Amino acid sequence: MFEANEDYLKLPGSYLFSTVAKKTAAYVAEHPEAKIIRMGIGDVTQPLPPAVIKALHKAVDEQADAKTFRGYAPDLGYEFLRKAIAENDYRDRGCDIRDDEIFISDGAKSDSGNIQEIFQRDNRLAVCDPVYPVYVDSNVMAGRTGEYDERTTRWSRVIYMPCTEANGFVPDYPEKTPDFIYLCSPNNPTGEAMNKDQLQGWVDYANEKGAVILFDAAYEAYIHDENVPHSIYECAGARTCAIEFRSFSKNAGFTGLRLGATVIPKDLKDHNGVALWNLWARRHGTKYNGAPYIVQRAGEACYTKEGKEEIREMVGRYMHNAAFIRKSLADMGYATYGGVNSPYIWIRTPNNLTSWEFFDLLLSKANVVGTPGSGFGPSGEHFFRLTAFGSEENSVEAMERIRKM
Ligand code: PLP
Repeated sequence: MFEANEDYLKLPGSYLFSTVAKKTAAYVAEHPEAKIIRMGIGDVTQPLPPAVIKALHKAVDEQADAKTFRGYAPDLGYEFLRKAIAENDYRDRGCDIRDDEIFISDGAKSDSGNIQEIFQRDNRLAVCDPVYPVYVDSNVMAGRTGEYDERTTRWSRVIYMPCTEANGFVPDYPEKTPDFIYLCSPNNPTGEAMNKDQLQGWVDYANEKGAVILFDAAYEAYIHDENVPHSIYECAGARTCAIEFRSFSKNAGFTGLRLGATVIPKDLKDHNGVALWNLWARRHGTKYNGAPYIVQRAGEACYTKEGKEEIREMVGRYMHNAAFIRKSLADMGYATYGGVNSPYIWIRTPNNLTSWEFFDLLLSKANVVGTPGSGFGPSGEHFFRLTAFGSEENSVEAMERIRKM
């Protein structure tokens, strides 16, 4: 008799965004006249840049001709894209990363969720609290997180690093020593980013403890401050302790197209001298047949002169919204964070409301949907996340409604 994987059964409740969607749908069913403004889920709204569309059309035409047709992609990605990424995102920034240390994938969600497979099952993980839920849930599915405590909403074998107003939303080094540590900067959901010294501190810590940092750089394109690093490899010593995830979703609008990359330096070895590069290459070879050729060509187009300009303009539009939302809420008296180096604005709920109470209030009084901070972890309680990914018109309208609320 077959039996379902019990580790999957340990996952508590429903996924944050499905609860948000259900509550919103229930409200709309009761109030069909309501004009809802969605500032909850982190999906982009602007169309793909013209340079990307052009590359897609060309690649589609190549697939129509036997002379230029491409079948299975190379396991680790096409050379043209690995080179473009290594050159533009790394070497041009002074980071020592080679083309063959880039692994192409269908996005940062898959890679940040799957990477835990290359660590021993008894390795201890550390995560920020609040955190992007994928890091914890993927380890739950792998049976690595111990028992769940419904009261504290914490797993017994996960090391939580609270990110609060008190520490400026930058985690302190944990008391227990982790084997691998998820860091995301600029961060989802707090919208705050680590500066160079702070990230260097983490790299030094990881090298000293023999730990690996799994660095999620999905929001790198939103960095505005000069002292915020765009890659962990800007820090000395990162080649021996860090893996980095990249995404084409938030910069170039590939949330539907799907493309990402993971960087594993060949110097990154465990205490027995085993290179993680080899394990990830083996995993790709066995479990993955590559991002589609046409999508990899679309990714390459992001690094052309036109592509770069178009992406800068698109990100600029979202960041214009972010600055407006942040300022509007601050003017209304909300304690407001993020929104400077990221498209997320993180606010403290008024009158000590819980995150879900504020969600209900905002939905019913302003018809605005956001994301309750408590859904990202216990330290997110009494906080709320709004995104700047909507249109300017909707951002203005939403702020007007919240002001009147
Ligand atoms: N990493 C973080 C921190 C995210 O917030 C998201 C999406 O919201 C992702 C990764 C997913 O990226 P991708 O679309 O490349 O899978």
